[in-house]
Amino acid sequence: METFTFERAEALDAAIDAAKAGARCLGGGTNLFDLMKQRIERPKALVDVSSLAGSIERTATGSLLIGGAVRNTAVVESGTVRAEYPMLARAILSGASGQIRNMATVAGNILQRTRCAYFYDLAASCNKRAPSSGCDAIGGLDRGNAVLGTSQSCTAVHPSDMCVALAALDATVHVEGPRGRRLVPFAEFHREPGDTPHLESDLQAGEMIVAVELARPVPHPSTYRKVRDRASYAFALGSVAAQLGVEGGRVSYVRIALGGVGTRPWRANAAERLLQGGPATGDAFRAAGEAAVADAVAGARNGFKIDLARRLVARTLMDLGEQP
Ligand SMILES: Cc1cc2nc3c(=O)[nH]c(=O)nc-3n(C[C@H](O)[C@H](O)[C@H](O)COP(=O)(O)OP(=O)(O)OC[C@H]3O[C@@H](n4cnc5c(N)ncnc54)[C@H](O)[C@@H]3O)c2cc1C
Ligand code: SF4
Repeated sequence: METFTFERAEALDAAIDAAKAGARCLGGGTNLFDLMKQRIERPKALVDVSSLAGSIERTATGSLLIGGAVRNTAVVESGTVRAEYPMLARAILSGASGQIRNMATVAGNILQRTRCAYFYDLAASCNKRAPSSGCDAIGGLDRGNAVLGTSQSCTAVHPSDMCVALAALDATVHVEGPRGRRLVPFAEFHREPGDTPHLESDLQAGEMIVAVELARPVPHPSTYRKVRDRASYAFALGSVAAQLGVEGGRVSYVRIALGGVGTRPWRANAAERLLQGGPATGDAFRAAGEAAVADAVAGARNGFKIDLARRLVARTLMDLGEQP
């Protein structure tokens, strides 16, 4: 039997102190408990942060601060989020099930681990679970794995829908720990696997996520579109979060991020650069789709994701720009 200590933090300071002392944060437990039950994660100490009073507050600068312990359902039910950041509400709603979203927290969603089947199979070689043990997914059953940001060590996809919207929205992660509070741009929070796939984020020992900040809302149409094997309760094979502003037939504002295809929530910077200031036409949106997957590398069974992502980007931009 695995033993571990457990405490429930009633205040943020107590949670930060416990995290600094080495305790692993527990949000809704919808991912961590599964991993503990399968002996993939073996924390020695847990601090339950899910009862912390989480809030969604406008800041003096007009940004929106969402507490790390706020439940996914509460984010979706926020009138402010629905009105000003609809792609975030759509992304969260497209994930998991109502019951899981009721339990899951914002911080837990950001730090949820991959769904690569070999990661969950203790008999398989997996560099992410056991560093330097090899990777059975490469050349194996990798249909759900990534085509962007992969390495010779790992091709696991980052599974979150919510994080794709946070990437497109230029969010900032607020982290507390031994060094005090740090603000980490979302684009820098998750790591590509390289040769250390077990290191997945910028979070350092003793640190916890206390909040996520969304930049001031931008009044252009936005959406989140997800393709999966069945209509609900399935992870993305491909997804896109996009926001598009068009003035005088030209692209005045564009943000694109991809899910289901990258080793981390994937911002499509090259596609954005191609579109910014140019004509808002179907041809331009198709070219942006090409640019979004220009660096993609197919594995043994996931080559279809490249074409899927290319078409998802083009179609979503056409819909936002109302182009045929
Ligand atoms: C059947 C099923 C289907 C799913 N489908 C989808 C889907 O389609 N799309 C999708 O995006 N997700 C899906 N999920 C994943 C789900 O979104 C995550 O399990 C959930 O968001 C995790 O949140 P949590 O609060 O329960 O995290 P926990 O399980 O509590 O924790 C997850 C990780 O976050 C860490 N953590 C938690 N809080 C903090 C904190 N404040 N600071 C630092 N570390 C912290 C934990 O230590 C742990 O490492 C699915 C899950 C299940 C079980
Ligand atoms: S792709 Fe990554 S998570 Fe999957 S088996 Fe390989 S190392 Fe493990």
